[in-house]
Amino acid sequence: MNTRIGSCQLSVVVPCYNEQEVLAACHGELTRVLSTVGAGKVESYEIVYVNDGSKDSTGDQLRALFASDPHVKVVDLARNFGHQRAVSAGLEYASGQAVAIMDADLQDPPEVLLQMFDLWLQGNEVIYGVRDTRQGESWFKLATARWFYRLLNSLSERPIPEDAGDFRLLDRRAVNALLQMKEQHRLLRAMSSWIGFRQHPLRYERASRAAGETKYPLRRMIALALDGVLSFSVVPLRVVSVMGLAAAILAALGILYALVLRLFTSIWVEGWTLLFIAMLFLGGVQMLSLGIVGEYIGRIYTEVKQRPLFLVRELLTHDATAAPDHAQR
Ligand code: UDP
Ligand code: MG
Repeated sequence: MNTRIGSCQLSVVVPCYNEQEVLAACHGELTRVLSTVGAGKVESYEIVYVNDGSKDSTGDQLRALFASDPHVKVVDLARNFGHQRAVSAGLEYASGQAVAIMDADLQDPPEVLLQMFDLWLQGNEVIYGVRDTRQGESWFKLATARWFYRLLNSLSERPIPEDAGDFRLLDRRAVNALLQMKEQHRLLRAMSSWIGFRQHPLRYERASRAAGETKYPLRRMIALALDGVLSFSVVPLRVVSVMGLAAAILAALGILYALVLRLFTSIWVEGWTLLFIAMLFLGGVQMLSLGIVGEYIGRIYTEVKQRPLFLVRELLTHDATAAPDHAQR
């Protein structure tokens, strides 16, 4: 558990994977907003950049930012662990009383951070951004995103806010709750709904990526969606039972049909076509069921290994009290 609580008021966690085109602009914007004087003034802040195994100059740029700005903390991961784990690493090393999560590509406007901060000052514990409109996203991405949230909500026991991404601000209590959840397959937006606390939505307009390209191709989106469904619901297992029951009922009806024809008419049910179709159908249903059960077993397998969620190569911090045990969790 994080023991470095409250050494600053606000931490902003920014996961970065190959973001060399946008990093400087991101840091500039964030710094401008966070040092704003006025309503909802942030007393002290830090920006926790997590370098998620970038292959471009992101790492060097972060090092330079660290050297020139005392507000910067850099968590350099040993390899690319993926967005959700990178954010988890940032949460682990953030020391603020409030912790915000933000993408590096400026799709989440830093100004909204201040609104979230105000809501936090008013006593809310989880302030999550809800995307009002999304510029520069393909209709395909919009449609799949919508479909995904609908599906997730119809399956999971706790509602997950529709159109909410990972852009959010969490109170220290909520962060500590999340840090207790060591599961390997993580969907932070769903996890931070699961924990409860005083939740508050905040609508905002999601901009298009400032530079660079998305790191979420379709393959990764499907994997993320699967994590969401399988980590938060056992309904697919129930669907397997229902499919079994349906197949059994179908078979019973078939038997009845054949018997009636045999006993009361002179027609015989014949033909291998029907047999063949039934065989393929049942084979398919069984394979599918096995696949669904297998998904869960695979997840149990990765969970029981209890590997660390991420490994840190290096931690750059200006905070002298930071514990040196930064190797892993
Ligand atoms: N990201 C990361 N590790 C990855 C993929 C993405 O840390 O393996 C970061 C990325 O640098 C960005 C954020 O996660 O700050 C969101 O990624 P992206 O903007 O590509 O996703 P999109 O907005 O297109 O869904
Ligand atoms: Mg983005």
